[in-house]
Amino acid sequence: MFQAFLIKYAEIAVKGKNRYLFEDALVHQIVRALREVDGEFKVYKTQGRIHVDALSEFDYDETIAVLTRVFGITAICPVVVLEDEGFEKLCEEVVSYVDKVYADKDISFKVNSRRARKNYPLESMEINAKVGEAVLNAYASMHVDVHQPEVMINIEIRERIYLYSISVKGAGGMPIGTGGKATLLLSGGIDSPVAGYMIAKRGVKLEAVYFHAPPYTSERAKQKVVDLAQIVSRYSGEMKLHVVNFTDIQKYIYDSCPHDELTIIMRRYMMRIAEHIALENHSLGLITGESIGQVASQTMQSLLVTNDACEQLPVYRPLIGFDKQEIVEISEKIDAYETSILPFEDCCTIWVAQHPVTKPNLGIIKKHEKNLEEQIDELFKVAVETREIIEIG
Ligand code: ATP
Ligand code: MG
Repeated sequence: MFQAFLIKYAEIAVKGKNRYLFEDALVHQIVRALREVDGEFKVYKTQGRIHVDALSEFDYDETIAVLTRVFGITAICPVVVLEDEGFEKLCEEVVSYVDKVYADKDISFKVNSRRARKNYPLESMEINAKVGEAVLNAYASMHVDVHQPEVMINIEIRERIYLYSISVKGAGGMPIGTGGKATLLLSGGIDSPVAGYMIAKRGVKLEAVYFHAPPYTSERAKQKVVDLAQIVSRYSGEMKLHVVNFTDIQKYIYDSCPHDELTIIMRRYMMRIAEHIALENHSLGLITGESIGQVASQTMQSLLVTNDACEQLPVYRPLIGFDKQEIVEISEKIDAYETSILPFEDCCTIWVAQHPVTKPNLGIIKKHEKNLEEQIDELFKVAVETREIIEIG
């Protein structure tokens, strides 16, 4: 029954010059997202609004699902498009629309009309009153409430007539592409996909880096990360996933440094390699899924030592103050959870010590990293150069 969608977005983001950037990015993201849907659409903007018109048959539920993943949208209103066949006919159409959409008619409503076409014979106040009357006559249990109606029946008179009353909540946030780019350290866990989602929500485009340790980590573990990147990209748009072979660096650290410091030193090298890749791809920051106190490597002391490894870029940790349960809720919401909990090995857990340091001292860690001087630069270079780049989305 619906042939179009009216896309609403937060006014606050579109003040002044930013308006065009914001709207154009949003149109671009909507077009991209709709490619997933079977059907043809036209996406365009008119004064302060974005419209999606269906040009063919389409799957309504699928379209709504796709649109609710586009950042920058606050609400999606499915629209019935009517030919202008006179006012009487319009009243009939509204009455029949109400019947189809609202099974339970014990509701309050208000008619809100707008004449974008000024030559329409009735003025908006008259339209409101007369359509309202027609609805009241048809359904005795409905009543008008002009202040807080449960249902707002919107009628827009343009070349054709747009009728809508349903509003589906959008994803919020800012359109991808309005906020620069950041590089996500993406593991196979629950946290990092959620961290990427949260930064992307603010309009930031993503690239991702995954460290694996073949043959100790399997092809299946890597595929799981590719799948997670795919899930995040449904929100964040296309991204490159850089798969870095970390085996030789991990082994070298294992052979050269105290075992209880393996994890923290390894994490410092992950940050360094990720920063190198991020600078190459013009990212303005790194993103991790760290949260204070979640594991030994995420105590405040550990975070200090990990953070120290990044010399040029800020590290964004959107989950820093979240409890696991709160992270799980978002993971479920974005459909990542089922994939995240698949039990495949992670490179971090392979040579991990029985009792890793929980309060590492930066000076001592730096001193022990000196043990790596001989080969680390070469291993670093090889890891960066031999990385595989997978196009996602
Ligand atoms: P996650 O659930 O995201 O895996 P975690 O609770 O397992 O996180 P850690 O293993 O300490 O925590 O990792 C902290 C962060 O470091 C991760 O959120 C991720 O951003 C990054 N990270 C960890 N392992 C990898 C990896 N193999 N490849 C890329 N990034 C990683
Ligand atoms: Mg992990």
